[in-house]
Amino acid sequence: VFQLSVPLNFLGSVYRELRQSLLDMETLFNLQKVNVTVRDSPNAKPLVLTGGEIKFENVSFGYHPQRPILKNVSFTIPAGHKIAFVGPSGCGKSTILRLLFRYYDVDSGRILIDGQDIRDVTVESLRKAIGVVPQDTPLFNNTIEHNIRYGRTDATDEEVRAVAKRARIDEAIAKFPDGYQTKVGERGLMISGGEKQRLAVSRLLLKDPPMLFFDEATSALDTETETSLLQNINSILKEKKRTSVFVAHRLRTIFDSDQIIVLKDGIVAEQGTHQELVDGGTVYASMWAAQEVLSIGADADKTSSTTL
Ligand code: ATP
Repeated sequence: VFQLSVPLNFLGSVYRELRQSLLDMETLFNLQKVNVTVRDSPNAKPLVLTGGEIKFENVSFGYHPQRPILKNVSFTIPAGHKIAFVGPSGCGKSTILRLLFRYYDVDSGRILIDGQDIRDVTVESLRKAIGVVPQDTPLFNNTIEHNIRYGRTDATDEEVRAVAKRARIDEAIAKFPDGYQTKVGERGLMISGGEKQRLAVSRLLLKDPPMLFFDEATSALDTETETSLLQNINSILKEKKRTSVFVAHRLRTIFDSDQIIVLKDGIVAEQGTHQELVDGGTVYASMWAAQEVLSIGADADKTSSTTL
């Protein structure tokens, strides 16, 4: 009996770990509403990254054939640039990110990363090269530390703490009952939307992928925390020369992008820097004017809205 119990215990823990990682995958896929039918092509090779240039060439796509979401969309994001997609709700901003991840294949046209059609590279190498902070971040029923370390499981404690600091979540964690060992998720401490977003940013910074996508990643934060978190993110992106794609409704979070692409009715309506679009655009200029009015109003009755 004694002899058997050791391997059985061992198997039990392997089983538990395996089960947990399957659950983790499931959670990720469910929460990101992912279609897992995309497969490697027979001759797929690993993606070879030379800087992270992203190119859409005449891309058309719809989730259903009768309802096109993107119509003949073309743009180039040079390696190391920061690009933002803006436009009305439902215009296809997140869809662009999903296509880049190859959760779906385009109906026509091509998506190239560093000159390689993403249908010709292995899905694994493609997804390894990209990190995303999605609109709704999946949290695992586990500790804060586990939730951050998921970004790179061999990270040291110091690395976990360093990214938490840059993601502006370290002070909040210090106030949790068990610090980094505090359990979160459905069966643990319920944390706020803003804390969840900062955990997701920590996870992404730890993964440190060549291309980073932020889909409304700071929408639940108060203005002050958001500004300082974005400054930290921007300095990391610059320092490491990463290609980044932001999707945002609040234009003040992306006005410093190298390029802003305005999507409307499935096409690229306008494209340029903030200044170019304010001076010469129509759609962006009116969005900016409307938000400026709103932010003046918000400043007037500003209340303390920290999520800590
Ligand atoms: P928001 O700013 O509200 O996040 P968005 O511009 O990011 O919107 P997408 O999420 O890209 O918009 O969605 C574009 C359109 O595609 C929407 O009309 C949406 O309802 C539809 N859509 C998104 N995902 C699916 C799906 N899995 N199946 C069918 N239609 C979908």
